[in-house]
Amino acid sequence: MLEVRDLHVEFGTRDGTARAVDGVGYRVDAGETLAVLGESGSGKSVTAQAVMGILDSPPGRITSGEILFRGTDLLKLPEEGRRRIRGDRMAMIFQDALSALNPVLTVGYQLGEMFRVHRGATRKQARERAVELMDRVRIPAARSRVDDYPHQFSGGMRQRIMIATALALEPELIIADEPTTALDVTVQAQVMELLAELRREYRMGLILITHDLGVVADVADRIAVMYAGRIVEHAPVRELYAAPAHPYTKGLLDSVPRLDRRGQALHAIKGMPPSPLAVPHGCSFHPRCPMARERCRQEEPPLHEVGPGRSSACHFWKELLDGTP
Ligand code: SF4
Repeated sequence: MLEVRDLHVEFGTRDGTARAVDGVGYRVDAGETLAVLGESGSGKSVTAQAVMGILDSPPGRITSGEILFRGTDLLKLPEEGRRRIRGDRMAMIFQDALSALNPVLTVGYQLGEMFRVHRGATRKQARERAVELMDRVRIPAARSRVDDYPHQFSGGMRQRIMIATALALEPELIIADEPTTALDVTVQAQVMELLAELRREYRMGLILITHDLGVVADVADRIAVMYAGRIVEHAPVRELYAAPAHPYTKGLLDSVPRLDRRGQALHAIKGMPPSPLAVPHGCSFHPRCPMARERCRQEEPPLHEVGPGRSSACHFWKELLDGTP
């Protein structure tokens, strides 16, 4: 359904050109969930904004690549065509529901507006649809709360309303950018479960952007791990959890608490991700990598195919997968 090919995005800054996305490619099929994982500044959200056509431009600039949605390159469509796809066929869920929702309009009005603007519904019909949607995302007593304002809901309930807004027009693709980061752990799990259930029911494609490997294990089919603007590992979720093929993924996994590793110490990856203004030469992860050696400082590793549906951008992926240099 969606295929991003060799996407490059730059940002013009006072200090020079920042290489935010550097040759990213991934695909998502109907009914499938792709998790895009990375620390802040890895390019995961910028890629999603490019797909949605909401990149801040300038300073952001797509310098090359293709974004194919059902075979049409979105980058070649006029703005009007993109807007129509964005309204009807693709939707986005943001991290901070409080700032994404309008504070001075009731949630019923905001949900209903989708039907009035895009489907020509009357005020009464739109309100009914808003109540149905609130029910669908399990807002208790939806009918009596449809005239409440966003600040009258808890963080978890507001995020459900955001999901309802995204679902309203039954899009084919939803991009959820850190949808549960602002919520506490129990509510995170409930919101994730709801998203997974709706994705199955509506047979939507879902791109789940997160920095937290812990939240995607049960909901994603595949994971693309990003670092410094590139995908460094791409794999089906089970294989990636069982045996990561990139030291960065391994570092992320070792820093997530897991029941099957009870009693073992948690490890944080040392150092910080690089600035997109100064990406290290060679493998961009080498200053933080416990396996780095001379070749890593000289040569940028390409994304190798390392198994069916799996790839890794590490010169020494074999050492990780089967322990042989
Ligand atoms: Fe580490 Fe080298 Fe692999 Fe980069 S190429 S991840 S520095 S071992």
